[in-house]
Amino acid sequence: DQRVMLKAVTRCLWSNPVAGRRMMSHHISPNLSGRVAIVTASTDGIGLAAAEALGQRGAHVVVSSRRQANVDKAVSLLRSKNIKVIGTTCNVGKAEDRDKLINLTIEQCGGVDILVSNAAVNPFFGNILESTEEVWDKILGVNVKASFLLTKQVVPHMEKRGGGSVVIVSSVAGYQPMQGLGPYSVSKTALLGLTKALAPDLAHSNIRINCVAPGIIKTRFSAALWENESMLEEFLKQTSIKRLGQPEDIGGVIAFLCSDEASYITGETITVTGGMNCRL
Ligand code: NAP
Repeated sequence: DQRVMLKAVTRCLWSNPVAGRRMMSHHISPNLSGRVAIVTASTDGIGLAAAEALGQRGAHVVVSSRRQANVDKAVSLLRSKNIKVIGTTCNVGKAEDRDKLINLTIEQCGGVDILVSNAAVNPFFGNILESTEEVWDKILGVNVKASFLLTKQVVPHMEKRGGGSVVIVSSVAGYQPMQGLGPYSVSKTALLGLTKALAPDLAHSNIRINCVAPGIIKTRFSAALWENESMLEEFLKQTSIKRLGQPEDIGGVIAFLCSDEASYITGETITVTGGMNCRL
């Protein structure tokens, strides 16, 4: 009867291995050649995938994170894939590190065209009412304030090149606060606002600014969410594409937003969630 058929269709859709699968890309056009791209927190996960996607399209990439050993590893990995890349340590929460990152880029690459602000921390998991001032200072300082200050700092350099593109990495948690991740979620909502707030002023300098809100992506950062099987199942119930996202799923979208293909997109956030519901 009808119910049996419906069940069979549901089962088929549920287990369809083709849904949302990434096809091997045979050719990536070098539409970013000649551009210089700074990507923060780019020695692992989404940042590293963004650096790779930008590099594959011909950009000269500057990778960074807090630990030198991680920087060295990322630089040699990307070089082994024939990507033009340099690297330095940079904790985005520290003004002197941000200066060092920008100065090194100007000295060694001659300018900046692209900024991907990807760094975020989450030092707190629990009831939001138990979060301290220290937690809020840290989360808002690294996730939100540093994104703004880095953007502000690259603007004059992008102006010298006639324009540029900024991409900020937010999260699905910015649309719907996640249980236990209250302050972090609020910081990610703030980034949606920051993107919109900056767009009109940056447009005067021919700089576009956009945002990407990833869903659950398989990285170390989100391990607590996907290592627990029942939690993972709960998340997958909320997605149309029944798998976790991979860093590459985000990297390509970031590269698109940085490219001239996206020349009329600014102040926008693209959600990349496998179909999770996102609205404020
Ligand atoms: P990840 O794989 O754990 O990588 C984190 C990277 O950030 C590492 O390279 C780490 O290197 C660096 N890092 C950490 N703190 C830093 C700081 N203060 N300054 C500079 N670099 C720092 O994380 P991910 O999942 O790719 O997360 C990247 C971004 O995506 C974050 O903004 C996160 O909020 C967002 N996001 C992730 C998910 C997800 O499901 N994974 C979902 C939505 C949004 P060092 O240890 O050497 O510093």
